[in-house]
Amino acid sequence: MQTIANFDRIGEENAFAVLARANALAAQGRDIINLGIGQPDFPTPPHIVEAAVKALRDGQHGYTDATGIRPLREAVASDLHRRFQVEVSPDSVLIVPGGKVTMFAAILMFGEPGAEILYPDPGFPIYRSMIEFTGATPVPVPIREDKGFAVSAEETLALITPRTRLLILNSPANPCGGVTPRAEIDRLVAGLAEHPQVAVLSDEIYDQLLYDGEQHVTLLDYPEIRDRLIVLNGWSKTYAMTGWRMGYSIWPDGLYDKARKLAVNAWSCVNAPAQFGALAALTGPQDAVAEMRAAFDTRRKVVVELLNAMPGVSCVVPKGAFYAFPNIRETGWKAKPLASALLEQAGVATIGGPDFGTLGEGYIRVSYANSEENIRRALGRMQAFLAEDE
Ligand code: PLP
Repeated sequence: MQTIANFDRIGEENAFAVLARANALAAQGRDIINLGIGQPDFPTPPHIVEAAVKALRDGQHGYTDATGIRPLREAVASDLHRRFQVEVSPDSVLIVPGGKVTMFAAILMFGEPGAEILYPDPGFPIYRSMIEFTGATPVPVPIREDKGFAVSAEETLALITPRTRLLILNSPANPCGGVTPRAEIDRLVAGLAEHPQVAVLSDEIYDQLLYDGEQHVTLLDYPEIRDRLIVLNGWSKTYAMTGWRMGYSIWPDGLYDKARKLAVNAWSCVNAPAQFGALAALTGPQDAVAEMRAAFDTRRKVVVELLNAMPGVSCVVPKGAFYAFPNIRETGWKAKPLASALLEQAGVATIGGPDFGTLGEGYIRVSYANSEENIRRALGRMQAFLAEDE
């Protein structure tokens, strides 16, 4: 039973508070470079924008099916087949207003007092926030630097109890940039056979942002858990569409209709012209996706090199997403005071690791979804700040 008190347990995403502070400082005339927020700095590719504008001009002004327009659900299924050779029925695809909505729906379905939900720590902060909202017990799964920030199957399986209802996975990952290798996922899925009460929410929103020849491993590739697997994905990161609020989820048979009913109750359907834009994104040319990935890759190398040259800083090479998660322990700073000093004194926005979980102390998140020029300027300032501080 949800009460008003449950709302006091809802957390936040500090990236938005940092964005507000960065904007406030910029409004005072300060030159602020934002390496805090996790969104592509590119505009949405023009053919996607055109498709949405055309939909509006063509009169797509009404409600659509609560699950999303049929061609879009078919396009999602075809896209997953093209990229991963997995069979997905369009009838298991739900179009939702942004990736977060799948998280919200899945956690709401499984979270209740007494239930345990496993989530990555450091991880996307909304997982824990939503788990706490439902009254369930959040159980952090450690994501460790010495494991390249990949999930450990052994450690994850050891945390499962008879009360565990949901396991949240995220690869490529925010905030650490880790990618969990196939062998580890194989072990994890094999171990889940002994825990049939555990559903899996696989957050694959960064599935097109992998580097160094790494291939994304989708959990859809494991038939043995398909009947308890929910996949979260969307257009925000791949197609530079964060403000469009376009996401999709894949649900197993037993849960799809529940999610559909939530859609009918909570948002009726997703913005109709945005759905046509998203359709053009999947069915049109994919060159922009490759170009953005190549740009992120170049910046990734710059970020890692510049961070590793700073006194007291060491940075693992991130394999995916668009974040670096440097270890700043040797600087003598705690993470949040450092992030705050960098913003206030050096005009560089980053996010303190503790905003992503208890294991985030000693790290800051540096987003490289910004131009190479800005990244060089920002990290130059950070270098000077730390050198002065020595
Ligand atoms: N999942 C992860 C891991 C994310 O980093 C984000 C956004 O930062 C989301 C989900 C949410 O995406 P959306 O903006 O589509 O709601």
